Amino acid sequence: MKKLALSLIILAFIISGITLLVNYKTNEGLVNTQQTHQKNQKNVAKENPQNHKKSQEKKKTKAPHKRKKKQLVITIDPGHQLKANVGQEPDAPHSLQTKYKATVGSIGITTKRPEYAVTLEAAKKLSVQLKKKGFKTILTRHANDVDLSNVERTKQANKNKSFLYIRIHADGAENPNASGFSVIAPAKNEHTASFYKDSKRAAEDILKQVSHRTDTYQNGISYRGDQAGFNWSKVPVVLVELGFLTNPNDEKRLLDSDKLDKLTVDIAKGVEVYSKRKK
Ligand SMILES: [Zn+2]
Repeated sequence: MKKLALSLIILAFIISGITLLVNYKTNEGLVNTQQTHQKNQKNVAKENPQNHKKSQEKKKTKAPHKRKKKQLVITIDPGHQLKANVGQEPDAPHSLQTKYKATVGSIGITTKRPEYAVTLEAAKKLSVQLKKKGFKTILTRHANDVDLSNVERTKQANKNKSFLYIRIHADGAENPNASGFSVIAPAKNEHTASFYKDSKRAAEDILKQVSHRTDTYQNGISYRGDQAGFNWSKVPVVLVELGFLTNPNDEKRLLDSDKLDKLTVDIAKGVEVYSKRKK
């Protein structure tokens, strides 16, 4: 037994000795290779210093973290305006169906705060959140006293080559019990064929993120084919209904600046998820 133990110990010594030797050789090899590489680099630099500089620059521009990322544009439309424009405009290109150019929207049941004021505040908050995530944002309006029809707003989004066009609204209903956040996306038709799928995805991603917050009752997604703001669009578009101004609880939530902040944080997260999914 003693002999066996002794031979095992000797064997272990021999093995560790060999391992050390191999490691030493390998490291030496590495050092040698590095030195050769450095020498070669120096030679290249000597032979053609300009070329070398150029290739170094090329390497720099190729590094993804150093390249300036092209910002995706999100156009945000705060729905409605101070004064209605009851002039008519077609609900789709070449359509004979017409709609009011702009309306005032719904009104807070207890505070009488108008929808156009709530949507502008929410749009500004959403813009802040989207900028934090690296998007470029463009609002269709910055004041309430404007005269901008739904078609004109949508044409702005097209002109901006928007990655996504987000229309912000707050619902109104005769029944004060109607409540909750929802998203409207374009139905598939001849005008929306090229972007209705992306719009649907964006709507799903936004709704999913907003659903994380339990105090926001969800109404899901509905699809509409009669909206000028969808049919005139050439880019993916969604309309978020932040909640019902005709429901006292929703109204309270929408008029609470902190709660509105949180809601826009979730919407921005949804936009971010959508943008990553699309890449
Ligand atoms: Zn509205």
